[in-house]
Amino acid sequence: MATSSFTKKTLGIDAPEPAVTPPPVNHNTTFAKKPRLRSKSKKKEIPEGLWTKCPKCSTMVFDKELDENLKVCPSCQHHFPIGSRERIHSLVETCTFEEMNADMTSVDVLNFTGVASYTDKLEEYQRSTGLKDAIVTGIGKIGDHRIGLGVMDFSFLGGSMGSVVGEKLARLIERATEKALPLIIISTSGGARMYEGMFSLMQMAKTCAALAYHAKARLPYISVLTYPTMAGVMASYASVGDLILSEPGAMIGFAGPRVIKDTTQAELPPGFQTAEFLLDHGLIDAIINRREMKERLTEYLHYLTNGQKNAAA
Ligand SMILES: [Zn+2]
Repeated sequence: MATSSFTKKTLGIDAPEPAVTPPPVNHNTTFAKKPRLRSKSKKKEIPEGLWTKCPKCSTMVFDKELDENLKVCPSCQHHFPIGSRERIHSLVETCTFEEMNADMTSVDVLNFTGVASYTDKLEEYQRSTGLKDAIVTGIGKIGDHRIGLGVMDFSFLGGSMGSVVGEKLARLIERATEKALPLIIISTSGGARMYEGMFSLMQMAKTCAALAYHAKARLPYISVLTYPTMAGVMASYASVGDLILSEPGAMIGFAGPRVIKDTTQAELPPGFQTAEFLLDHGLIDAIINRREMKERLTEYLHYLTNGQKNAAA
């Protein structure tokens, strides 16, 4: 098919010419070159779910390597969030963990409705996380020591403390007291669960009262703080351990920095809500890398129990 000047003009091959001028003899009127359609530049796509970028040092870490490293960046030791099940698996001896009150779920006492109803929220999180609430509790063995262990999970509604978290903890602490077992609680939480209003605040007193009986029986309690441990949780059971340990870089505090600044009208020191700052100021006894946590907990348990094992319990 002959290409008319009109077609050429439309395709932008040639300069516009008057319709009467015949095309030059040697001019190549065929499509010697394919018109280039500007396609989107192809990026080398990295399949999702294989690599994770470290937010601290920007290294791309292979997910399998990250899992094997207990979710700690191999380059800069940044501690990624870790689920309660994985954490329990990393701490207790194989097949020694007996979970308690696994099916306990919250009730929407207040018929709370915000953006979504509390019942819908609960169902949504139970489906997406496979957890019933923000804590897993039970009796297990670390090294030679039988212990009561409670591990919070931030992925369930921000690790918020509602009546289930409080009740499961209280029952765990009471069981530990009854069986004369040391207690370890690993916290991660944004604070009390607003959907339960006053009921969530009552958990602060309940858990601390149970801990007081545990302490009265002269049994050790180790509190481990992880990123983040804030508000009602920090203001109750998380801060009353015989030993208070933390993971590196954990954010720890009561209210957020903006609220404190607005209330006190004072300049806040940099990094004042980090584990490192609180270690310097005496609130925390030690900062321990997650990969050494089991070993160090075993040592502390040995020290605190005077070498006695709780194998009989
Ligand atoms: Zn890193």
